[in-house]
Amino acid sequence: MDQVECVVIGAGVVGLAVARALALAGREVMVLEAASAIGTGTSSRNSEVIHAGIYYAPGSLKARLCVHGKELLYDYCAERGIGHRRCGKLIVATAHEQLAQLQGIVDKAAHNGVNDLVMLTGAQARAMEPQLTCEAAVHSPSTGIVDSHALMLALQGDTENAGGMVVMNSALAHAEYAQSAINLIVTDGTCLQAKVVVNAAGLQAPALAGCFKGLDPRHVPRAWFAKGNYFTLASRAPFSHLIYPVPQAAGLGVHLTLDLGGQAKFGPDVQWVSSPDDLVVDPARGDAFYAEVRKYWPALQDGALIPGYAGIRPKISGPDEAARDFLIQGPVDHGVPGLVNLFGIESPGLTSALAIGDHVAALLSTHPLV
Ligand SMILES: Cc1cc2nc3c(=O)[nH]c(=O)nc-3n(C[C@H](O)[C@H](O)[C@H](O)COP(=O)(O)OP(=O)(O)OC[C@H]3O[C@@H](n4cnc5c(N)ncnc54)[C@H](O)[C@@H]3O)c2cc1C
Repeated sequence: MDQVECVVIGAGVVGLAVARALALAGREVMVLEAASAIGTGTSSRNSEVIHAGIYYAPGSLKARLCVHGKELLYDYCAERGIGHRRCGKLIVATAHEQLAQLQGIVDKAAHNGVNDLVMLTGAQARAMEPQLTCEAAVHSPSTGIVDSHALMLALQGDTENAGGMVVMNSALAHAEYAQSAINLIVTDGTCLQAKVVVNAAGLQAPALAGCFKGLDPRHVPRAWFAKGNYFTLASRAPFSHLIYPVPQAAGLGVHLTLDLGGQAKFGPDVQWVSSPDDLVVDPARGDAFYAEVRKYWPALQDGALIPGYAGIRPKISGPDEAARDFLIQGPVDHGVPGLVNLFGIESPGLTSALAIGDHVAALLSTHPLV
């Protein structure tokens, strides 16, 4: 049986960031990826927004890792020449009763250390974005966009330059804790023994952990899947900032984001589904998009929205439950030496990836290998 010090399961943005952090800390790292390429899961099916860290419960992992991750990400993008833009965003109140929510957003952000938000009147917001209709808005200047694939390629490059390996077409089939090491079996029959295993399998992370022999099932949350559909705008984008409505129950509302090429897209909405593979966008959902978007952009023309793509949020709370924080479980939490499970790494997981990598590396460094 081959021995590897650390195995990371999943080459999405989070698995790659964890692998990079471990490799830069001098550890031998192998990433096992089920697909034939990196980043084909949720990491390539999102809004590519660098979130400021506004909405999350103060003190939560989401708040702390997003705010820290944002700074790390901007620095990393600048240093490595990864495409990104600090374009800023406007959170818009389109009804009088939403005005109090805007102040709540500013207050919550301040608790999270995001102190650069600016309240705008409707007229001030329209001076920035003439096509916008709103009662008032909040401007977040530190929100931006990033080329997520270029980011993942850079993370893979750093991991490999530090001696790590990223192996495709290698789905983990079985894992078992035995005599101070973890035995792994890959679907092609390869057997590995590792001191450290990081489960960064995204949507599959709970199912994978559920098959892990030696891990008490009480530590494995139920997986829920909340699909987010996007519709792209056929014409040129009329906005230069990202435009968000005030947040809704399970997501951030149907917002407008831009990519680095200037293409505008609207979404994601929230559609609870039973399968993590249910990725087809139903064109009929477009009707609700027109209604939502016209609340802040009444000039949206009929026929302007084209079904785009969908991503699925790896949730660990259901439709009628309060949204849960990222759940990052190390040996202290579940008692299995060397194992870290990453559950519920939904948004702002892309923004937080570098901070999650450092967090996991630190978690393992305080529990030295036996
Ligand atoms: C609709 C939507 C919009 C979002 N927008 C944003 C945003 O704008 N900004 C932001 O910060 N975050 C956003 N997010 C969140 C962000 O996309 C995720 O947090 C992040 O991509 C999660 O990365 P990951 O590496 O954990 O998971 P993934 O990218 O899903 O990677 C998991 C990998 O594990 C592999 N895998 C699974 N099972 C196995 C196995 N048994 N063996 C080996 N490999 C396996 C999969 O093939 C996959 O490549 C959004 C998410 C969604 C769904």
